[in-house]
Amino acid sequence: MSQLANQHGAINLSQGFPNFPEDERLLQISERLIRENIHQYTPMAGLPSLMEKIAQQTEKQYNRKVNIATEMLITAGATQGVFTTINTFVSIDDEVIILDPSYDSYEPSVLVAGGKPVRLSLNNDYTPNFNRIEDAITSKTKMIVVNNPHNPTGRIWTEKDFEALETILDKHPQILILGDEVYEYITFTQPHISFNTREKLKHRTIVASSFGKSLHVTGWKVGYLIAPENLMYEMKKVHQFLVFSVNSFSQHAIAEHLDVVDFGEVSRMYQRKRDLFQSLLKNSRFELMPCDGTYFQVVNYSSISTQNDVDFAKKLITDNGVAGIPISVFYNDATDRHMLRFCFAKTDETLIQAAEKLCKI
Ligand code: PMP
Ligand code: GLN
Repeated sequence: MSQLANQHGAINLSQGFPNFPEDERLLQISERLIRENIHQYTPMAGLPSLMEKIAQQTEKQYNRKVNIATEMLITAGATQGVFTTINTFVSIDDEVIILDPSYDSYEPSVLVAGGKPVRLSLNNDYTPNFNRIEDAITSKTKMIVVNNPHNPTGRIWTEKDFEALETILDKHPQILILGDEVYEYITFTQPHISFNTREKLKHRTIVASSFGKSLHVTGWKVGYLIAPENLMYEMKKVHQFLVFSVNSFSQHAIAEHLDVVDFGEVSRMYQRKRDLFQSLLKNSRFELMPCDGTYFQVVNYSSISTQNDVDFAKKLITDNGVAGIPISVFYNDATDRHMLRFCFAKTDETLIQAAEKLCKI
């Protein structure tokens, strides 16, 4: 969609990445660091000063003490974290439960490992269907992937959701959880509940996060995993021969920048953008779905067109000059509910220009 948007000079609200300038403080740190002697390999599991800062933040935010020597791994973005996690624990014929609509890298990571993705739809309001999850569990179920806050729907798991999962998993001690929490610092309607806080689940959970989202540097590809020692010990063996160590410059710059970052401000900034985008589209013919977190707004276009979402998204680019992502691509059966996802991690000017075009339809 980004490619098609570029070809037609459309405003690109499809792929999730910010188009506003980077934090001046991070740029200044970067300009200084580029001349310093920091350009060789970092230790395999990550730069200790960065890991220390992540541990401090995790304790402050979630009250979880993390031992950086045994429970943390810096990864080349959350994508590598997801791939490493799945390929460490999933073997031939192991089943992995994935909740649709789902982020695109989960299923391929399971297939590369020789495992079987078991894709279950969320309810129509995008809440998890725990009966469906319970019924899908077999003796071969190895892992469940939970993305929270959720891309593409912007939904956030509640206390009740976690309790329901805990009740089900109590009966299945072999099942691991991959908690993809890359949007942990982008929440609006309620605080994010991290797996890092779940006493009953922590021992079997690998939490993945990414500075691409929380510091607006998607291209830097620096993320991290937090997991108990017995699981992390195995993951490091895969990580060592997949990437060995993650790029040193970005790790040094992020480590310094974390001293001044206010993660609360990340949510506040995106909440302002969500509110602006929603108010601009209020008089359009798009129906806005609830957005509790992430930088994605899902809209229903049923009152505009009966076209399927892929064709509608293409036409929106060619005829109306705005790019979004059709939601059906996040389902294994291409379920089409006439929904599109727009990314609002954009300058106010971009959002205003895009909304003007969308309101004319
Ligand atoms: N998980 C989800 C839900 C995402 O939206 C993204 C970002 N596209 C990732 C993982 C991958 O993050 P990264 O860019 O750090 O690899
Ligand atoms: N995570 C971003 C999205 O969902 C972009 C990642 C990608 O393009 N692979 O749009």
